[in-house]
Amino acid sequence: MSMIKWALPALALGALSVAACDEMLGAGSDGGITSAMLVGANSDDANWITHGRTYSEQRFSPLDQINAENVGDLGLAWFADMDTARGQEATPLVMDGKLYLTTAWSKVKAFNAATGEPLWDYDPEVPGETAVKACCDTVNRGLAAYGDSLFLGTLDGRLVALDRETGDVKWETVTVDQEQSYTVTGAPRVIDGKVIIGNGGAEFGVRGYIAAYDVNDGSELWRFYTVPDGNEGGESPQYLQDAAETWNTDVLAGNDAIGGGGTVWDSMAYDPDLNLLYIGVGNGSPWNRAYRSPGEDGTGEGDNLYLSSIVAIRPDTGEYVWHYQTTPGETWDYTATQHIILADMEIEGEERQVLMQAPKNGFFYVIDRATGEFISGEPYVAVNWATGIDDEGRPIENPETRIDKTGQPAIVTPGALGGHNWHPMAYHPDENLVYIPAFEAGMVYAPEENWKPDRARGFNVGFDLGAGDLPPDLGIRREVAGTLRGMLVAWDPVAQEAKWTVEHPGPWNGGLLATGGGLVFQGTAGSEFNAYNAATGEQLWSFGAQTGVVAPPITYTVDGEQYVAVLAGWGGAYAITVDGELLKDKAPVRNVSRLLVFKLGADGELPDELELASLPLDPPPSRANAETIALGAEKYARYCAVCHAPAAVGSTVLPDLRRAGSLGNASAWDAVVHGGILKDNGMVSFAESLSKDEIQAIREYVIFRANQDKAMERPEEVAKR
Ligand code: CA
Repeated sequence: MSMIKWALPALALGALSVAACDEMLGAGSDGGITSAMLVGANSDDANWITHGRTYSEQRFSPLDQINAENVGDLGLAWFADMDTARGQEATPLVMDGKLYLTTAWSKVKAFNAATGEPLWDYDPEVPGETAVKACCDTVNRGLAAYGDSLFLGTLDGRLVALDRETGDVKWETVTVDQEQSYTVTGAPRVIDGKVIIGNGGAEFGVRGYIAAYDVNDGSELWRFYTVPDGNEGGESPQYLQDAAETWNTDVLAGNDAIGGGGTVWDSMAYDPDLNLLYIGVGNGSPWNRAYRSPGEDGTGEGDNLYLSSIVAIRPDTGEYVWHYQTTPGETWDYTATQHIILADMEIEGEERQVLMQAPKNGFFYVIDRATGEFISGEPYVAVNWATGIDDEGRPIENPETRIDKTGQPAIVTPGALGGHNWHPMAYHPDENLVYIPAFEAGMVYAPEENWKPDRARGFNVGFDLGAGDLPPDLGIRREVAGTLRGMLVAWDPVAQEAKWTVEHPGPWNGGLLATGGGLVFQGTAGSEFNAYNAATGEQLWSFGAQTGVVAPPITYTVDGEQYVAVLAGWGGAYAITVDGELLKDKAPVRNVSRLLVFKLGADGELPDELELASLPLDPPPSRANAETIALGAEKYARYCAVCHAPAAVGSTVLPDLRRAGSLGNASAWDAVVHGGILKDNGMVSFAESLSKDEIQAIREYVIFRANQDKAMERPEEVAKR
């Protein structure tokens, strides 16, 4: 591998916009990132210095060397294998010919962006047991840059400043109460010398907030809570007093395992002219509003601000400015944490400054970003929880889909994974199209009459998560799987309709990049990395990635030559909960965690694919009584299904318990689930939440399920036992 020597100041200056040059010179010759460079990032097409490329988060690069005419000549320039094998969701940053990325388990790596030579890596040594606090795999979405530092949020809630040249830690600070199930997976942003980061954990009873930290020493400068805590009085900020009016705050004040939720775990955008920071706020904790904010009749009440809202705040003080709530009284896990894009466009003859989002609830929103005024909203996927949005911007709900503590279950679309999840969209200003990595996956919401929160372990959602499990019959499971859709939707935000749609084999496809070369790049769950014509959706190029790709691509230049990079590696919420048995029929969606980098004329190849091991099911005989199996099923649904797939069918990433070596050995099973001997791998002890008898009941349930599935595959062998 050849080594390229960098004249850092010269290169950085060459890449800068004229507007940013003065401040650049003022910053000295170290090539450090300044506020002016961040504000002017759009004119610096060589680099990718902030998460969404610009503060507007458009994920559009003007680069056009690689274009619709020549993309067929795109080839693999280099690749780098990662040392983690969980979901890879990061957007790399590129500065001065160096590429920086995060991987699963919050690790950071630096490479020569042209050659792939590794420069340094950093491991924050997140304790393995943190994995059980994470709803959606041990992912990380990226870094922020400022001065000569990089900023990282770790899964266990630390904010770490690294020296960009060496990877050495400059400072670190704990941003959450680590006794609670907070996690950090999002990429920080830096605005005017403040590092801004939120957190996740709304499935586990936390209260959401976002906070700003001094870039120099990590000291906290402000904290913005998104939901009340039930103790609001005259001293509380007015926006929280207002929010408290929309909750039954007795519950928030009276039960510290009900934190309300509203976590700010991913999206942010910033308008420097309006001096507004936009944050996407998550779902309620628990999901079921009847437990979180009960009314007198036993059902839920209130809009529960600022759940599922886009909130505009002052980045210098954390002061509230406006909000728009996408899902009042959220109860389906309909976060508004999805990607926020800022753009200017003509709507009904008027030039508008808009903010756009396709949150989980299935509607595409166009909002005035100066005032928060609702402009328009239409469904971008199949939706049955609401029939539309009225002129005031309030959804017209379908009452049959609102499930409380009792009554009939309902199949609701979108389900808890949404119509679009964390995967970034992209916006092409010339086409005026937003590219949405959308999907359709409905879900059964079933009441749980006597639900009690458990802050120690497990999903705290207030619904019976096992009720929607499919029967073991493979034919029925395949039929249901056949209703899952995944698509790339090119959305016209003015007309509020799809201009074109590309169908993928299934949900959970990669984030997007749009370019001045008339291209849209996207990886797929089906292990491809593709380029499409940005105007028509015609597929122009494809590369076999050997693994599901969920992360968004970036593009940059080194020495004037354009590269496209994407971090491949299947994982995340859908991957760890989907019926892996069925997905295997569709695509080889195992995890191979690897950075892939492309340029024109390159002809690199990946190593040969490993054969997918598919061991036959060989469980011990099922001898437990029906009562024990039922108890195990109930506990499995609450504590195990979120990582090991519903009904123990085996997901695509984490161990398939039907094939666990300890299945036939009660004491080995106890040592894992009660004793926690695998905690460094992420499998902690559940002793606080489950008795030894309940732990064995789960084992009996998995044995029972494994025998059911084995009977489907090989009936003659089961008959012999
Ligand atoms: Ca959630």
